[in-house]
Amino acid sequence: MVTGPFPESSMTELCDLCRRDQLEAIYEPERSTRGLKVYLCRHCGLLQSLPRIDRAQRAPAAVSGGADWGNVRYGKGFRTAAALSLLRKHTDLSSDLALLDVGSNRGSFVRAFLEAAPTASIVAVEPDERVAESCGKLDRCELVQTRIEDAALETGRFDIVHSCHTIEHLAEPARVLADHWRVLKPGGLLVLDAPNSAILDADDIIEEWFIDKHLYHFSARTLMRTVVAAGFEIIAAPDIEDHANLLIVARKAYTAYRAKDMDHREVAEASRLVAHYGSTRARNLAALTFVSIEIAGMAPKRVAMWGAGRLFDTLVVHGSFTPTNLSLLIDTHLKAHVADRYGCKLAGPEALAEADPDVIVIMSRGFVDEIATEARRLAPRAEIVLYADLLARAHVRKAA
Ligand SMILES: [Zn+2]
Repeated sequence: MVTGPFPESSMTELCDLCRRDQLEAIYEPERSTRGLKVYLCRHCGLLQSLPRIDRAQRAPAAVSGGADWGNVRYGKGFRTAAALSLLRKHTDLSSDLALLDVGSNRGSFVRAFLEAAPTASIVAVEPDERVAESCGKLDRCELVQTRIEDAALETGRFDIVHSCHTIEHLAEPARVLADHWRVLKPGGLLVLDAPNSAILDADDIIEEWFIDKHLYHFSARTLMRTVVAAGFEIIAAPDIEDHANLLIVARKAYTAYRAKDMDHREVAEASRLVAHYGSTRARNLAALTFVSIEIAGMAPKRVAMWGAGRLFDTLVVHGSFTPTNLSLLIDTHLKAHVADRYGCKLAGPEALAEADPDVIVIMSRGFVDEIATEARRLAPRAEIVLYADLLARAHVRKAA
């Protein structure tokens, strides 16, 4: 049976998980171009942004500041290895698997999976033609260039549904998860990855985390409840050590039901988390000028910066940092989308050899170790300075 596209639903302001009318505005993101506010469901604790305008015309790839950050999907390509390693544990990749990849983006997972599973086939769903092209010509891969809500895939067709950093962008995650359930064979697997709201507890957070592209902000608990309510049994819960991502494996099991129970603990925890984030971030932003002063004070040494994403952006906007004094600004991923940031040209890591910097400042939280290793390899002479250490010293200076 093939079902048609979802009927257009009216824009309600009910919680997507528990369907209660108990959403309370608790946070206003910095520089949201869509006027989004973050709401807490007082019944189940799910954080969600309203209004849920998700059919807006996509703007060309660009980066700006605050909540508007991120037409460029930044971290997705880094998650392929984690998803594949879980799949290896829970399935036999040498069998004839049919996999649905939801939001294939630049095809990082598609290519890695086809290589790891030599007789498997993929249906890749990706609406963005600029990125969909990259997996359109692969063997054993059928590209469906549309939004997942409109894909109208065959019932019971797939052994696996893989969805990486996509669910938080959707207007109706519960409805889309129910559709993943429908297209899976009995006992089929859902591999789901999403940003983790636990990152809001980080002491060194400076960036606006509630960006305009994300309509839902899951914790391990709210994501698992959403998945279970769609009729899945969780077989691998998120790694509690990973505060950035929620990677879940679930099996198609039950009939979907409505999540009804009130979750006092989650409501209290989400409320605490957002308040903590607001105050920690404000304290860190107030110290950023001292980070800029320390970097400026490194002159006449040649300073390269690795990472031109949200941390860098926040340092320029809130710390009055002048990037044009850098000898090099590196960002492997952003470089593919934009030529410069605040008048400073973006370079790839290969430029390090010629630039021969004395210092490399790493502006990253999630990928510090990977970047530091690569930086040491490419510029063995350079001193490596981490953003977290700069921020810690800035607090000391500010207090002095
Ligand atoms: Zn709710």
